[in-house]
Amino acid sequence: YPNLRTVAAVVEFHAAKQPDTPAIVCSGRSLTYAELDRESTRVAHAIVAAGLRPGARVAYLGKESEHYYEILFGAAKSATVLVPVNWRLTAGEVDHILRDSGTELLFVEHALLDVAEKIRADLPKLGTIVELDKHYADWKADQPDVKLAPDTGPDDPIVQLYTSGTTGLPKGVVLAHRSFFAIRDGLAGAGLDWIDWRAGDRSLIGIPGFHVGGIWWAMQGFNAGITNVAMPRFDSTAAVGLIRELGVTTVCVVPSMLRLLLAEPGVGPADFATVRKIVYGGSPIAETLLKEAIDVCGARFAQIYGLTETGNTAVCLPPDDHTPGSPRLRAAGRPYPGVQVKIIDNAGAELPAGQVGEVCLHSPARMLEYWGNATATAQTLVDGWIHTGDAGYLDDDGYVYISDRLKDMIIVAGEKIYPTEIENALTKHPAVAEAAVIGIPDDRFGEAVCAFVALRPDQQTGRRDLMVFLRDHLAAFKIPARFEFLEHVPRNPSGKILRRELRDRFWRDRDRQVN
Ligand code: ATP
Repeated sequence: YPNLRTVAAVVEFHAAKQPDTPAIVCSGRSLTYAELDRESTRVAHAIVAAGLRPGARVAYLGKESEHYYEILFGAAKSATVLVPVNWRLTAGEVDHILRDSGTELLFVEHALLDVAEKIRADLPKLGTIVELDKHYADWKADQPDVKLAPDTGPDDPIVQLYTSGTTGLPKGVVLAHRSFFAIRDGLAGAGLDWIDWRAGDRSLIGIPGFHVGGIWWAMQGFNAGITNVAMPRFDSTAAVGLIRELGVTTVCVVPSMLRLLLAEPGVGPADFATVRKIVYGGSPIAETLLKEAIDVCGARFAQIYGLTETGNTAVCLPPDDHTPGSPRLRAAGRPYPGVQVKIIDNAGAELPAGQVGEVCLHSPARMLEYWGNATATAQTLVDGWIHTGDAGYLDDDGYVYISDRLKDMIIVAGEKIYPTEIENALTKHPAVAEAAVIGIPDDRFGEAVCAFVALRPDQQTGRRDLMVFLRDHLAAFKIPARFEFLEHVPRNPSGKILRRELRDRFWRDRDRQVN
């Protein structure tokens, strides 16, 4: 990989080296590296002309498009900070993000303009709103394409990503340029290279660009100077079509997207003939899904684990650990060179291999801070260590196994139960497509296990059958006391189960306490 350290340097380098290579393809349109460089320079000039100073916040509220990347590189070249906003959020949630970030300039797609107008009066700092489908082209058209030389380095902020809020009000995670590049060095030597990029590669960005996984993956592709393929929103039918049509070679998805790809009618190895590697992560993957994917796709797989706060991936399970039957298939991976992992108990003491505690990560790609929230920053980022809120353990070889989020842990009569383990067991049942497990109030034992199950099309099963099935896979105290059947498990755009949505009706009038 070229030794590039800032986002602007990436597009400038490849525009000089291979100007005519397509940098981004989206909705049938494409921009070469030279075009992306020129258009992002215009965006940068227009941002400066709008009165924004270095460090000001620029937000993007819309589905993925080539404009999104022009604006990302434009923010880098004007030393401003991009705040990508999930376009599925309600006006109230968007309001929180724009106000919290102090956004001064907002790019918004036409369909979401009413959301922006509704909250505008509430946002005194918001000066300019640029409608992407209408005014954006004119807004930047007359700007010069003379290179700007912002005074930015690897430690300066470049994006502010809001956590999805599955664990509370979304917080703005400020990432520096180095978050995109810091763990890149020494990957091949460590056998952890998630992709051995090759000239001519086409990389499908399955994860949305407002999520750390999506923007991080796109930046890896840009850094390697290959062609990125984006979709306005993830659509499995369109994704399979794009893979075949464009000869996609590498794919990055969350597990729920992998499930959708494999559920496409008639999908088979021929659809993935050009795909060399599939990178997945962002939420736990069911063992059955991973096995099926390895069988069907024939590609090499790499798992990544990390948080927005760690600048995405901090550990990786490389392709060599994806051999069928390997116990390593249950691991999230091992740390990159320069990353450290430790497991701690409630008192903060480090635990030996094999013992479950909170996973802490020390990574050069970690966040700078939670924006405007020193208290939360001090709780999560302690002496350079990110306290992940995930429960997990290490094995003797330094592989990390993620049990679950600590907050999702269920305690039945003092016994700790991790929902992921039960979900994994349930999806081994041939009739089960997806499962989500939560703790619900129980007067005798404190909590009881409740499973939500979505069945595969044309399949049937019931509570009794599932309980009998689970007896072969789980200790008796882990078997759900209650089952509910639903069509789909509710998930956020990055594939995480929305447990809070499932829990709400059970816990409405009670406090749930998990230590
Ligand atoms: P919030 O912090 O508000 O809940 P979020 O869930 O979207 O927002 P992210 O930073 O996107 O925050 O998610 C990080 C979490 O995703 C990790 O703490 C972990 O629980 C889960 N995760 C990510 N990758 C993996 C993986 N490979 N295996 C298991 N879990 C994973």
